[in-house]
Amino acid sequence: MPVSIFLNGEYVDSREKALVPLHEHGLLYGDGVFEGIRAYHGRIFRMKDHMDRLYHSARAIMLEVPYPKEELGEILLETVRRTGLEDAYIRLIVSRGPGDLGIDPRKCPRPAVYIIASAIQLYPKEKLVKGLRCTIASTRRNRPDCLNPQIKTLNYLNNILAKIEAIQSGVDEAIMLNEAGYVAEGAADNIWVVQDGVLCTPPTHVGILEGITRKVLMEMCDEHGIPWREKNMVVHDLIKADEIFLCGTGAELIPVVEIDGRVIGNGHPGPLFQKMLDLFRERTRTDGVPFR
Ligand code: PMP
Repeated sequence: MPVSIFLNGEYVDSREKALVPLHEHGLLYGDGVFEGIRAYHGRIFRMKDHMDRLYHSARAIMLEVPYPKEELGEILLETVRRTGLEDAYIRLIVSRGPGDLGIDPRKCPRPAVYIIASAIQLYPKEKLVKGLRCTIASTRRNRPDCLNPQIKTLNYLNNILAKIEAIQSGVDEAIMLNEAGYVAEGAADNIWVVQDGVLCTPPTHVGILEGITRKVLMEMCDEHGIPWREKNMVVHDLIKADEIFLCGTGAELIPVVEIDGRVIGNGHPGPLFQKMLDLFRERTRTDGVPFR
């Protein structure tokens, strides 16, 4: 599988050569931020949105990205260019960097940047047709006043614990609630719920990552006259829904057909899901910053 890696200042072309110092605070404490980005047809999709979110996440944890945004953008484009791929998944990481033991970030003299560009791993095609079976995780999404889910940090244990619950329950994915019981998001995706022809998604203040795919869907709805709104929802709203789907950079759009044994809608991916997926695919053909 072709891979291109930017290892804090140098480009390497294999995973074996891409070694990170053991005293990296990203590893020791999850002290850092990241982005998951896609390239489609030789273009980095929604690059500005991803760069903006990365710098906002970094600012929130008082981490200075060691490159100006434009320069890091060039490095990102070069890294994906070196894969020779047209379609790729890109992981962009900024960590506190190597330093002595102890959580004090001042122990790390310089933040580090790591980029992995590689082939994409899609959900198996059958899931797009059959849909996902989900569970409502008992692990609640992080409270924004403890660790704001809007910050895309290297601390993903909250989400991983929810994913483990899904695995333990023998289903595909987990849906997370916030501490008050409102629907938040999937373990690594945002959620959309179709109610009487309206696409509904939880507002960011519920405590979710403000997904870029979510934003793209909102834009597409506006352009095509499809009604959408942000809405607080509880589990019963999911059970009553006509359709449910998840969205994210990695998953793109993926339908949900069952939650804790309850069939959603007619148990098959619905027409609004299909419509949004078609529009999204169309958009990925033209939207993005070219790297060739
Ligand atoms: N929520 C969480 C917790 C995520 O990790 C992600 C990204 N995988 C998303 C939502 C979707 O965000 P985006 O569309 O920007 O990839």
